[in-house]
Amino acid sequence: MTDSDLLITRDAIRAAVNPQRLADTALALIAVPSPTRSAGAVADRLAEILTVDGFAVERPIADWPEAPAVVVRLESGATGRTLQFDGHLDTVHLPFVPPRQENGYLYGSGSSDMKGGIAAFVEALRVLRETGTLKAGSVLLTAHDHHEGPWGDRRQVEALIREGTVGDGVLLPEYLADPLPVAARGMAIFEIRIQREGEPCHEVLRPEGLPDVLAAGVLVARRLQELHTRLSGITHPVTGHDSVFLGQFHCGEIFNQAAVLCTLKGTRRWVTPNAAAEVQAEFADLLAQVADETGTSIEFDFEVQGEAYAVDADDPLLAAFQNAHTAVTGAPLPLGRKPFVDDGNTFAGLAGITPLSHGPAATGAHTLNEEVSLVDLVRVAEVYALTAVGYCGGK
Ligand SMILES: [Zn+2]
Repeated sequence: MTDSDLLITRDAIRAAVNPQRLADTALALIAVPSPTRSAGAVADRLAEILTVDGFAVERPIADWPEAPAVVVRLESGATGRTLQFDGHLDTVHLPFVPPRQENGYLYGSGSSDMKGGIAAFVEALRVLRETGTLKAGSVLLTAHDHHEGPWGDRRQVEALIREGTVGDGVLLPEYLADPLPVAARGMAIFEIRIQREGEPCHEVLRPEGLPDVLAAGVLVARRLQELHTRLSGITHPVTGHDSVFLGQFHCGEIFNQAAVLCTLKGTRRWVTPNAAAEVQAEFADLLAQVADETGTSIEFDFEVQGEAYAVDADDPLLAAFQNAHTAVTGAPLPLGRKPFVDDGNTFAGLAGITPLSHGPAATGAHTLNEEVSLVDLVRVAEVYALTAVGYCGGK
């Protein structure tokens, strides 16, 4: 698209975005409480809104019958890329705060994380259809439950990906407006359980050679520290370096009893894309070595929360996004790292597609004071629609 085409398209999109329609959509979604694993009613509400708008709505179960996902496709009729708009409809488990619109701001549960952003997706879809500006390719809107941890385990977004309900690139309306995250570390939460056979016993009654789970725990802690030192050398220009962090160490009931169980918990983060399996294997080796040396048995959980990824500098979604952002706001976004794990990590790791997390400059996520400005929701709706035009029509 030439620069002047881009500006003509921007003007058409800008003229079509209806701020109050966008706000009403967000408020209607916020009004339906949807703590993680209980997003069925709000998914129904979103499906109803889209149906009334004249979109054909699909409701795949996607591994969560309590809240079938919401899927809509906007086809241009010409071949091109598919841009996915993906958002989660569930909220963290806090007391419900009802919706409110006041002085240009929307308030209430999920307004920031991320029903406001989903409403911006819906508005972008409406506008693309009304203006006829999507000349090639298609937009795939997906919305689902099971995002927020520790209540959700991402099973629904994973099922959608496995079932092929996925685009060539994906936007996620996280409350990250600046910078644009183009790389993220992978992350796993681990729990290590070091055990010996037999019962707890008084220290003076220990048989000769009884394995010492506490000493084995200390050895694991020291080896993890050594590992961390080595890992600090594995670096990425945007995301930093690999790490292993130990946050909890539990062992023993009283001072003179030989324990049977020692547990250690922490995190492992990595910068190398698609390295989760390798990282876990290295972790398993370290623990097997300690078990061998100490005569204990060691088992562990290694729950991967998200895979590491890095977006190429010449990625077409990145280019389309920056062109759109420049047309809408006057400047491209500075590039940065993503501070947390979101569904973008899952799209990168499981679907192998480029994720870009960008949403309104909303505040109060995971608190009772979520708020988002309507002006900013309008901005992101314009950026989403214009990104779709550039990306989907780009080949
Ligand atoms: Zn959240």
